[in-house]
Amino acid sequence: MNIKNYINGNFHNPIQDNWLDNYNPSNGKIYGQIPDSTKEDVENAYISAKSAFPSWSQTTLDERSRILIKISELLEANLQRFAEAESKDNGKPVSLAKQIDIPRAASNFRFFGNAITQFASESHESIGQQAINYTLRQPIGVVGCISPWNLPLYLFTWKIAPALAAGNCVVAKPSEVTPMTAYLLGEICNEAGLPKGVLNIVYGLGGSTGQAIIEHPDIKAISFTGGTATGAHIAKVAAPMFKKLSLELGGKNPNIIFADCDYDDMLATTVRSSFANQGQICLCGSRIFVEHSIYEKFKTDFVNKVKALKVGHPSEKDTNIGALVSKPHLEKVKEYIQIAKDENGTVLCGGNEVTITDYENGYYLEPTVIEVQSDECRVNQEEIFGPVVTIMPFTNEDQVLQMANKVKYGLSATLWTNDLKRTMRMSNQLQAGIVWVNTWMLRDLRTPFGGVKASGVGREGGFEALRFFTEAKNVCIKY
Ligand code: NDP
Repeated sequence: MNIKNYINGNFHNPIQDNWLDNYNPSNGKIYGQIPDSTKEDVENAYISAKSAFPSWSQTTLDERSRILIKISELLEANLQRFAEAESKDNGKPVSLAKQIDIPRAASNFRFFGNAITQFASESHESIGQQAINYTLRQPIGVVGCISPWNLPLYLFTWKIAPALAAGNCVVAKPSEVTPMTAYLLGEICNEAGLPKGVLNIVYGLGGSTGQAIIEHPDIKAISFTGGTATGAHIAKVAAPMFKKLSLELGGKNPNIIFADCDYDDMLATTVRSSFANQGQICLCGSRIFVEHSIYEKFKTDFVNKVKALKVGHPSEKDTNIGALVSKPHLEKVKEYIQIAKDENGTVLCGGNEVTITDYENGYYLEPTVIEVQSDECRVNQEEIFGPVVTIMPFTNEDQVLQMANKVKYGLSATLWTNDLKRTMRMSNQLQAGIVWVNTWMLRDLRTPFGGVKASGVGREGGFEALRFFTEAKNVCIKY
């Protein structure tokens, strides 16, 4: 199936007629092609967005909200079709896409469709100066949204929905590795009555199509989720043009387990926080630190549970771990397993590719647990972004806090304890944008989302996203 650029409400071939292959990770086969878009395609998308802006930015909140909620309803009505498409493109189990990715994409539109009707700005009476100040929150204009391959539609819509709700027009690019659900979204936007040109989706490589978006002098804001190195590059390109930037980047998140936690709950959640989506979630707890007194018990119980996970074809109902997203990514993850061995880490389980009958060329890997000797080894410091976690014991709070914070990243942290004072001490000091206590990935879309250090700049989620996608203007009236 060939995917086409979605520009001005229509589907277009790329101007240069160059195409890229799209692979199905579950069997390693090419199953379609996507545009290898150039600067000219991005320019057309920009022109379309720019023409739509005056009218969209003046569309009433009621009308914007109605359209966004309609998109949400259509996504829900097409759940099975979207979940199958996401799975085929990404390798994730269909069951996961059905339970998480697509419902969450629908929630993004519903949430921001509602949130914009509640988004208010401030006014300040300047007492004694006979003046009143009020703040306008005006849409920026044309904004760029660039998203990664791990949660394709989920993260794509996490950006697009607030951008549109705030009255902007969008030029968006999904990862070239997982373009399919973005393509289907275009059809749904037309059906929901989104005016032509309000959303434009171009497909292609990061270094060319993505680069054309970030370099475009009149695309005034970029919301990007992806790797830290790409984020740094985007920041450099955008800085001289003073673009507004929101960067949600990589993570190497600690999962800190104290002996006083609810053990069974912790164990079940830790299996999920380690290996959900084949470990390809920026929030996965990839560094597990366990209090010394329960370390040996945890090690045995955890490894037994991980060994019981079924690696299988994404469409099979009992599959826990599907395929990794691409061949190069599989190779990268395998390299890290070798690095762990070279660093004297002990592979407690997993570490090998899995061959699935009839799908021998798919990118399957066993979930892998590595016991490390030092928190400073490479597999404990660098983002692997696959089904690989490290474990090691700790003796006290200070030590684990130091180890948890001693990485360049600061996206999320998970803490398992029933001690309230420790919870308060630790969550204050953990260097992370999000701290989960006795849970993982419990999301409320009103909360600020983002990271510190090399995990990003800025916050999205709730009104934070609406603030990002608007410019504040103060008006001061003397009376
Ligand atoms: P990349 O940084 O490689 O790519 C992300 C997106 O940016 C893709 O659409 C990519 O296009 C595009 N891109 C690449 N180069 C450029 C460029 N020069 N200009 C503009 N766009 C560009 O990340 P991955 O897709 O590999 O995603 C995995 C990463 O994302 C991990 O590091 C993960 O931690 C992070 N992530 C962070 C999250 C967060 O919320 N903090 C959430 C999820 C993931 P293409 O793929 O087509 O080359």
